[in-house]
Formats: sequence, structure tokens, C-alpha cells
Amino acid sequence: MSKSNPRLELSKEEMKSLGYKIVDAIVDHHLTQDKKLPVAVGTRAEMDSIFLEEAPEKGMDAQKVLEFVLKNVMANSTLLSHPKAYSFVPGPSNYVSVMADALATGFNVFSGGWSASPAAAELEIITIQWLLKIFGFPKKKGGGIFTSGGSMANLTALTTARNIKCGKDFSKAVIYLSDQAHSSNIKAIRVIGFREEQVRIIPTDSEFNFPINKLKNAIAKDRLAGLQPFCLIGTAGTTNTGTVDPLTELAAICKKEDIWFHIDGAYGGAAILAPKGKTALKGIEKADSVTIDPHKWLYQPYEMGCLLVRNHKHLSHTFTEKPEYLRDVEGNTSEINFYDLGIQLTRRFRALKFYMSIKTYGLQSFRDAIAYNMDLAEQLEEQMRKSSLWEIVHPATLAIINFRYNPIGKNYSAKKLDKLNQYISEKVVSSQKALLVTTILNNQIVLRMCLINPRTTLADVQETLELCEAFAAEADK
Ligand SMILES: *Cc1c(COP(=O)(O)O)cnc(C)c1O
Repeated sequence: MSKSNPRLELSKEEMKSLGYKIVDAIVDHHLTQDKKLPVAVGTRAEMDSIFLEEAPEKGMDAQKVLEFVLKNVMANSTLLSHPKAYSFVPGPSNYVSVMADALATGFNVFSGGWSASPAAAELEIITIQWLLKIFGFPKKKGGGIFTSGGSMANLTALTTARNIKCGKDFSKAVIYLSDQAHSSNIKAIRVIGFREEQVRIIPTDSEFNFPINKLKNAIAKDRLAGLQPFCLIGTAGTTNTGTVDPLTELAAICKKEDIWFHIDGAYGGAAILAPKGKTALKGIEKADSVTIDPHKWLYQPYEMGCLLVRNHKHLSHTFTEKPEYLRDVEGNTSEINFYDLGIQLTRRFRALKFYMSIKTYGLQSFRDAIAYNMDLAEQLEEQMRKSSLWEIVHPATLAIINFRYNPIGKNYSAKKLDKLNQYISEKVVSSQKALLVTTILNNQIVLRMCLINPRTTLADVQETLELCEAFAAEADK
């Protein structure tokens, strides 16, 4: 396209052939990704050597641009949907939702207000209601909103908690969370303007359990000092170990103390769909707000987070503004304008992918996938316990397991074990054959697997462990 194209249009033929090629590329990727290398490595200099240029004044053929992108962009991106992507919280995704995203973007549906797109707002209402029921929240009174991810859901929750419990003056307010709570909570606390001395980080015990007694002491001391305990963040599935805080007990404390109880279930919340997970998450239904993150263990592609609240009015009271330019689109109260329930005005249509994937596969498929993931982690634990090479540092919890290479009889020093496990991780990652990084638990460097991909098999995991063992043997020489 060497001429200017000021309407930014392609011909019908060009559109179709570009579109079909993209669909072909996505389908091909879905069919073959398990055989690809999951890890992409590249330095800034290497990426610059491929991409660095001035914004081109003149266009070029769309097919050529696509070819370049497929070859250079996609091939240089780590595949968080790969069965051997074990680190952080992977994003297994699913094809139906990918197509739903393409549809939502293709029609550029504005998912901010009812009058702009009643069906999009309705689908968000309906899917939020599905989630409210799944999490045992009141169906009529409860509410929620889809966000870009868990971080934004936590930010939305803490802003709401502050507004409802403190109003305009939060100078004496104090917030509590454990040292295993996700870093996005600390970020959110900072964003909404709390000073460091208003935050109590409660240290967990050596098994990463939330110490109720320490929390009670902290609240009591803060009250004596004339401060206002206003919010507790519990975690339903910590990112490090999958540990679920004692939700029922924490809820009772919050009720007694008139404290907002926010539960961060961004990683673990989805486990509620499986029988074992439901037991582990008992008490989650007692929260004032819960963050879940469908782009993790509900298998949605990025971006999709979600905040559920016990009382939908708490969101609208916190986020509704009535500017003159939105006067004509307000509508009535049952016709929800999601821009009144959160931070964004213009919002992409996230509900569609959740809706289409649940409609297509059925909720039972999601339940089975999540149960499978939890079982896989347990099977791996059982196997590792029988091995003379591996030590379980934290048992399979939800679908996370922490372990380290520590062969019986070698009596390695703590320092040597740290070095060895760090080395294993670095070698595995640089081999590009698996994404397996470390975390630190009780000052020890350990390996961590988050097994939420329903396409990961025990054989995949075994292959990865064998790779680790080979690197370990090499380091020992
Ligand atoms: C991943 C995660 C988050 C952050 O969610 P994003 O979607 O990455 O923004 C928050 N809390 C927990 C427990 C998480 O695992």
C-alpha cells in the first residue's frame, strides 16, 4: 500500500484473505503448540535488531506485515498456554474464547453503558450472576464487574472498601494482609494513597498459614492507638504455595470488628468448581468482596479479571459519577451501566468470551478440568515422595507444588542446595523446553509448578523432571 489510504480500509478480498490467514495461524498454533518450545529468550539488542525502525509513512501489503509478525513476534513470545509452562500462574486459554475475543473486537463493542450495547451489559449481568451463584454470594443483592485482571480487581475492591468503611477521611485507617498476599494488593494500597504506617503485613508461620492470633493482637493494638482497622485481605490460594487462609475464622473476626473482608482468589478462586476445591475454599462466601481471575484458572485468554461483591450498591456508591456528557445514557437502575461500577468508562466486551466458552463446553467441562489439575499436582507429589532425588517443600495445594532437588545421602549444605536448584531452573529455562522458575520459601530457593493447564499430562511433568535431573547431574560433576 504505497498510496495513502485515509479511510483505513481494505477490499473485501484483502480483508478475507488477511482474516483467514490469521485464523489459520491461530488454529495451527493451537494444534501444534504442545510440540513447540514454550520459552522465548531474547535480549533487547536482539529484538531491536528485528524491530527497530521509524514509524513508516508509507504502508505495505497486509499479508507481508502479517508474515513478518508471525515469524518475528509470535515466535519470540513465551507460550504461557504451553503444557510445560509451569511458572507464575500460566494462562491455558481456550480456542472458543479466543474467537469470542476476535468477535468482540471485530464489532468493537463498547461495554461501558447499557444504552450503547444492552446485550453486552446483559451478558455481563448474566455471567456475573453465574459467578455469584458459584461463589455462594447473594444473587439479588450481590454484584460484580469484569476487569482487565486480578490487579485491577483488587484495586477496585480496596477502593470500594475504603469508601464504604472510611468515607472521605481515611487518615486513621489501617489495612491488614499476610506476607504471602499478592504484590498487587500492596500496589493497590499505594495507588489509593495509604501511607506505609497504615499497612500491617502479618507474617505467616513456617507452613504459610495465616496466624489468627497475631492478627487479633494487631487489630486490638491499633484500636488502643485510636486507629481505624477497616479492611482485611485474605488470600484464597496464595501465588507461592496455593495456601488458603482460614476464611471462616477471618470472616468472623471481620464481622465482629466491622472490617471489610476482601478475599484475593485471583489464583485459587476457580478451584471452587471442583469438589476438593470447594471444601478448601469454604468460607469464601462470607467475604464482602472476592477477586477472581478468569484469565488464569477459568481458562480465558488475556485479559479478564473479575470482582464480586456481596452488595452491588457498594460498587455504585463508590464509582458513580454523573457528568453532564453522560446525562442522556443513564437509563434505569436495572439496566446497569458498568462504567458506574468500576474505574473504566470505555471497556472491551470481556463477558462474551466467558459466556461463549461456558455455553460451548458446559460448566461440567470446567469442573472436570479443574479437578484434573488438582489431581495432577497430587499425583506428582506422590511420585516425588517416592524418589530419592526430590524433596517436597510444600505439598500439592490447589494445583501448586513446591519442591527441590535434594538427593538422599549427599548431605548438601543449605547454600549448595540453593545454588543447585537455581542452576537447574536457569538451565531448564535457557534450554527453552519448559518454563520452570524458582521462588523462595522460608529462605530456601525452591522450584515451583503451577499445574493449571488441562492439557498438561503426568508424562509432560516427568519429562521435565528428567531434564532437571540431567542438569543436576551435570552440575554435580
Ligand atoms: C495473579 C494474581 C494477582 C494479579 O492478577 P493479574 O491478573 O496478574 O493482574 C493477584 N492476586 C493473586 C493471588 C494472583 O495469583
